[in-house]
Amino acid sequence: MSTPPAPTVEKLSFRRFTDGDSKWDSWREQIFQASYSHKCPTYIQSTPPCQGSCPSGEDIRGYLNIVRGIEKPAAGMNWQEYAWRRLTDANPFPSVMGRVCPAPCETGCNRNEVEDHVGINSVEHFLGEYAIANKLGFSAASVATGKKVAVIGGGPAGLSCAYQLARIGHEVTVFDEHEHLGGMMRYGIPGFRTPREVLDAEIQRIVDMGVKTRLKCRIGTDITLEAIRSEFDAVFLGMGAQSGRPLPAPGGDAPNVVTATAFLRAFNDGRLRHVGRHVVVIGGGDTSIDVATVARRLGHIGHAKPTDFPELAIGGHLAHDAAVVSAKQGAEVTLTSVFNVNQMQANKHEIEQAQAEGIAIRGGLAPVCVVKDADGRGVALRVAQCEAKFVGGKLEIKVIEGTEEDIPADLIVSAIGQAVDFTGLEEFDNGRGAVSADKNYQVGGKPGIFAGGDVLRPHLLTTAIGHGAIAADGIDRFLRGEDQGKRPKIDVHAFDLKRKMIERGLSFSEAHEPMHGTDRSNVAIHNYDDRSERYVIPHDELYLGHFGFTPRLRRKVITLTQETALGNFGERIEPLSEADVVAEAKRCMSCGMCFECDNCVVYCPQLAVVRVPKKEATMGRYVYTDYDRCIGCHICKDVCPTGYIQMGLGE
Ligand SMILES: Cc1cc2nc3c(=O)[nH]c(=O)nc-3n(C[C@H](O)[C@H](O)[C@H](O)COP(=O)(O)OP(=O)(O)OC[C@H]3O[C@@H](n4cnc5c(N)ncnc54)[C@H](O)[C@@H]3O)c2cc1C
Ligand code: SF4
Ligand code: SF4
Repeated sequence: MSTPPAPTVEKLSFRRFTDGDSKWDSWREQIFQASYSHKCPTYIQSTPPCQGSCPSGEDIRGYLNIVRGIEKPAAGMNWQEYAWRRLTDANPFPSVMGRVCPAPCETGCNRNEVEDHVGINSVEHFLGEYAIANKLGFSAASVATGKKVAVIGGGPAGLSCAYQLARIGHEVTVFDEHEHLGGMMRYGIPGFRTPREVLDAEIQRIVDMGVKTRLKCRIGTDITLEAIRSEFDAVFLGMGAQSGRPLPAPGGDAPNVVTATAFLRAFNDGRLRHVGRHVVVIGGGDTSIDVATVARRLGHIGHAKPTDFPELAIGGHLAHDAAVVSAKQGAEVTLTSVFNVNQMQANKHEIEQAQAEGIAIRGGLAPVCVVKDADGRGVALRVAQCEAKFVGGKLEIKVIEGTEEDIPADLIVSAIGQAVDFTGLEEFDNGRGAVSADKNYQVGGKPGIFAGGDVLRPHLLTTAIGHGAIAADGIDRFLRGEDQGKRPKIDVHAFDLKRKMIERGLSFSEAHEPMHGTDRSNVAIHNYDDRSERYVIPHDELYLGHFGFTPRLRRKVITLTQETALGNFGERIEPLSEADVVAEAKRCMSCGMCFECDNCVVYCPQLAVVRVPKKEATMGRYVYTDYDRCIGCHICKDVCPTGYIQMGLGE
């Protein structure tokens, strides 16, 4: 007899006590023996964990509250544009992010404690598409500072830095060795994940701000860094990690053993149009999945002549003939990793998609050597079963003797990591193949030279974009002759109540620090404090019982099969509709910021919590407390779903 499936838990309980409990867990809470205290509500803006986990520090809660209609747009602007402008304060690439960011923000989202994270990435995707369709642009500063900055590398780090510098009036020139801007967004990630028209649109907006470009120009060989330093007031190094790591196994020097970066560059340049019948990719991260899925789509041609060998196109010696494309057949693609499949670094969803496309993903295999034929070409990759783990940060691989096998291969691609190409820029190599920089992303001992992105440590697009923005801030300080100073503990683009009040035409006295109202001053609101720079609000500070079970609205993803993947370079992900985006934004719990639910107004037994008059109200300035009436009963705090109200003695 089969066991009936467990019932789905749709109604979660966030009760503080189970039946029979009669004691408080925390001694701090035992202080309240009666229904009053000497504490009163304070209004505390904190950073939500989504934003704290986003390396570009986007004001995610802010744009979700705009999308759902709580925060009203500035006069003359619709919510779509206003939300997009809030998002792009931090990150000028929402359409790209909405497609390929692995979204650490969603992993951090407090809503995971209720049922599932908010679909932040889907909202980002929608806003990015809206801005492209409606040709929204950025404006450069109206006043030029007269300072010139050279940005070396037109990838996400360099472009983010250029964008932020142009916004504050500095003259920026981006140098890139490629013909087009975009870095790995164009020459690494395949076009079926970052469509080129989307990339072009988001890059062009930055160029249209007046950012100058010098393409096909490599600093360190075409122009020396000294020449750049004499012409510019500051420099940003955003060269990324362009060189792939070759396979460190005997036979790895065979001509048909190539690196992932060389393979993807040849594909993205249009030189590589077919691969061999058998392709073996060694890796386990996202890059190896990109190589495997590209190989699967390219397929192979029958009766390939030596001039058709893929390594010739990858090495740049020739370009494949477009005419052969129609005659292609599928390639057998195997991806090996030293880790088990469930421990591989690649995004789980991407692994499943690759498997559906017929790619054999085999974990727990270490490369032993490349088996060559009489001409010196590789014909197989010899692997052995292994156990791999990190010990003290170092990867240890234990090969199991007697388990060797040969996987046939016409092309072997090593996707085991990348390195910075320091040719002509050796002075920046910290000895470990990277650039070292401080918290402001200034290179140690080199005032005026800043760095960010993969040159520091290969990671994600959003990380490079975050570095570029912080470095731009440091460059601005340097150009103004100011000290670099300390960066905040939580370095994000937080909601700015002062800016919002100015936008709404609300005045406040400059005599007071507007971010710290007291019970007497009404500068912002009574006892408001912005702690965004030092406090990320956890889920247990929220009243989760306020939120009912609401499933996440997911985007449609097209899953290809072994047959349909061949020759299919179309996108696989579709944006949500506008109605679904608004519904998804409504799932946000607005952690650490009032979302105008009125609970405190309704439940206060003393009628001490009052709404700010509509004319003076704005986001974060919706209620205040009449301290003459407040008896400190904590009810408003207990029923505040967002953790925005905290009891204090004005601290
Ligand atoms: C195959 C692949 C897939 C990836 N997939 C994802 C993904 O899905 N999601 C994600 O978030 N991240 C992904 N990443 C990581 C992401 O692409 C990088 O972290 C990011 O592009 C780093 O940005 P960057 O600006 O530092 O460097 P890059 O993007 O590498 O850009 C650096 C630019 O500088 C130029 N340059 C270098 N040296 C010089 C010089 N001396 N003079 C002039 N120009 C120079 C280069 O040509 C390049 O255009 C992927 C990476 C790869 C390789
Ligand atoms: S850039 Fe990535 S981490 Fe940041 S909000 Fe977008 S999806 Fe989330
Ligand atoms: S619920 Fe909203 S504010 Fe809270 S972490 Fe998730 S997306 Fe951010």
